[in-house]
Amino acid sequence: MDATTTLSTRAWIDRFIAAVERESSELTELDRKAGDGDYGTNLRSALRRTAANLDAEPSESPRAVFTAVSDAFLNTGGTSGPLFGMWFREFAKALGADVTTSALAEAATNAAAVVQRLGKAEVGHKTMVDAMVPAAQALADAADRGVDVHTALAEAARAARAGAASTEQLLARRGRASYVGENARGVVDPGALTVAMFFRAATDEAPA
Ligand code: ADP
Ligand code: MG
Ligand code: MG
Repeated sequence: MDATTTLSTRAWIDRFIAAVERESSELTELDRKAGDGDYGTNLRSALRRTAANLDAEPSESPRAVFTAVSDAFLNTGGTSGPLFGMWFREFAKALGADVTTSALAEAATNAAAVVQRLGKAEVGHKTMVDAMVPAAQALADAADRGVDVHTALAEAARAARAGAASTEQLLARRGRASYVGENARGVVDPGALTVAMFFRAATDEAPA
């Protein structure tokens, strides 16, 4: 694909929804081992609301698309719903008519900060933050180097994937997984994995 080709946010979200549909039982299984087992259900209902919001939204601007996603998550239960809702809201705020690497970097940086403030989670607490922060750092680094959007998002996807993988050996310090102590060790955090799936869906390239 041409490096300057415009990224369709609508297609990005459609691929994200499809990826979650494929893996929702795995995501729920992770939350069953180190939580209450409703993660995949929560995520799927947020994405069903997202699809309905997008069907009702005539604009395909990044702002309109991410507002539809954010509103859907904010109206979904579980700890993850409102946190993802506030995360996606920063993408709606920062992205203008076109998706650029620097706007993505701004979005992801602000979004990770909002989630950290609301959830009081640091990197290493075994939450979605463990993927959000390295993805934001990768995008900021890509923006500094003037990298095109597709390359930047592929780098963010790799960083988020590595961040999600790093949660496997951690004990949880936040969320329900923190109630199960050692039993959470060996279980990847499903929220972090979802963040990796989201960035991976942007470019639809083979995982690194
Ligand atoms: P619940 O515990 O309410 O059932 P979900 O199953 O909807 O929550 O979501 C669990 C996910 O939420 C975890 O995988 C983790 O990534 C994320 N999470 C939980 N607590 C926090 C927190 N304080 N800060 C950031 N993320 C969190
Ligand atoms: Mg849960
Ligand atoms: Mg729950």
